[in-house]
Amino acid sequence: MNAAGRDPGEVLRQHLIDPEICIRCNTCEETCPLDAITHDARNYVVDPEICKACGACITPCPTGAIDNWRQVLRVNVYTTAEQLTWDTLPAPIEVAAAADDDDLPPEVARITAQASEGQGGHVPPPWSAAHPFVNLYPLSRPAVATVSGNFRLTGDDASSDIRHIVLDFGATTFPVLEGQTIGIVPPGTDAQGRPHHIRLYSVASPRDGERPRYNNVALTVKRVTEDHSGMPVRGVASNFLCDLKRGATVNVVGPFGSSFLMPNHPGASLLMICTGTGAAPMRAMTEHRRRQIAQREGGKLMLFFGARVPEELPYHGPLMKLPRDFIDINLAFSRVPGQAKQYVQDRIRARGDDVVRLLASDQCHVYVCGLKSMEEGVAQAFRDVCRRHGNDWDAMLPRLREQGRFHLETY
Ligand SMILES: Cc1cc2nc3c(=O)[nH]c(=O)nc-3n(C[C@H](O)[C@H](O)[C@H](O)COP(=O)(O)OP(=O)(O)OC[C@H]3O[C@@H](n4cnc5c(N)ncnc54)[C@H](O)[C@@H]3O)c2cc1C
Ligand code: SF4
Ligand code: SF4
Repeated sequence: MNAAGRDPGEVLRQHLIDPEICIRCNTCEETCPLDAITHDARNYVVDPEICKACGACITPCPTGAIDNWRQVLRVNVYTTAEQLTWDTLPAPIEVAAAADDDDLPPEVARITAQASEGQGGHVPPPWSAAHPFVNLYPLSRPAVATVSGNFRLTGDDASSDIRHIVLDFGATTFPVLEGQTIGIVPPGTDAQGRPHHIRLYSVASPRDGERPRYNNVALTVKRVTEDHSGMPVRGVASNFLCDLKRGATVNVVGPFGSSFLMPNHPGASLLMICTGTGAAPMRAMTEHRRRQIAQREGGKLMLFFGARVPEELPYHGPLMKLPRDFIDINLAFSRVPGQAKQYVQDRIRARGDDVVRLLASDQCHVYVCGLKSMEEGVAQAFRDVCRRHGNDWDAMLPRLREQGRFHLETY
């Protein structure tokens, strides 16, 4: 035992970030509940003294750079100072005492297996999802897009400024699917002189372009003017994007995401729950289905969409024009004067019978997207409506995830 009471001969599987793939988006650092992840201008690194291999950071990482593990003796553990100098990951070293997981102490084997799977495991895409392209443009070689449109979606008197921004890729190949994200590289540096980290934005247009057969992608971007506790701030990337004029150019990395994708087989149903800019992937999926309306292949679209007031609901006008037999729309507004506050979870409860009927079908695929704060309320609503019908949501959820039928993206 050393002074810290640890056995230097102990074998552990160290959690590392691949510097070649990492796009420095900061998602893992924001996600880690233990603050085990730090960065400098060069690399994102995991502190081996803090990381408990809980796996919470694995699924949110858009590139997979976070999902790297090396067996090392505790005495040889890679320090954060070492990791900060890397351009590539070190080659795996054979640790004779523990050549495979069977030889690891049971507790180490358990946590490393869990961590490799991510929180709740990796969620596969629906079986009929199209093949996504990912990581085509790394930070070292971003694609350059030209802004071909930027207009405000929220009403003039609405307090939030949410914009529909169209990026044209010209002759550059940038294939995306509904549900994927792209990374925007904001120009300039932060207060410490480091390049701004990348921010992710969901694709809001269908795979064949915002304008069909044009090489363009739409985003739904909210201008961040206050932080989550309501204090005034000027969000770096969202203000950069919202202020862009037509003709301006933007560096883009990605695309990312190989799980939050839509099914493509006849009869597949979508149960979509979103708030605010979480509407972006739902708009992309709905629009893809709308463009195929002539080939009606069955499968229900049911949408629960929340905002403070109708004026703050992106795409409210076009959404309300969609045929009722094409999509079942349920809106929830939490700040309409003179009306009781309603959240998406209230609407889910109100439509509980239909939600449970849809969930009971193997064809149903569930998508949840929006601010992190919606997660618990939506989970509780599913729990309640399932219980009312003699079902157990917590038992159903792992099966839905395994089958690529439950996808959550909150930020
Ligand atoms: C997978 C994924 C998909 C995303 N898709 C979208 C999308 O489609 N549209 C979109 O607008 N954003 C989306 N985001 C969020 C986006 O990546 C940025 O985090 C967001 O635009 C804020 O970046 P910023 O640079 O403007 O603010 P920052 O400069 O990063 O932050 C400024 C301050 O504001 C706080 N803050 C950050 N975001 C918010 C917020 N949304 N509300 C209130 N306070 C905030 C931060 O905590 C910080 O204190 C997505 C994020 C992820 C992880
Ligand atoms: S890509 Fe983003 S989330 Fe993944 S390791 Fe790098 S900084 Fe972390
Ligand atoms: S595995 Fe858990 S503790 Fe380790 S870096 Fe990721 S989120 Fe943090």
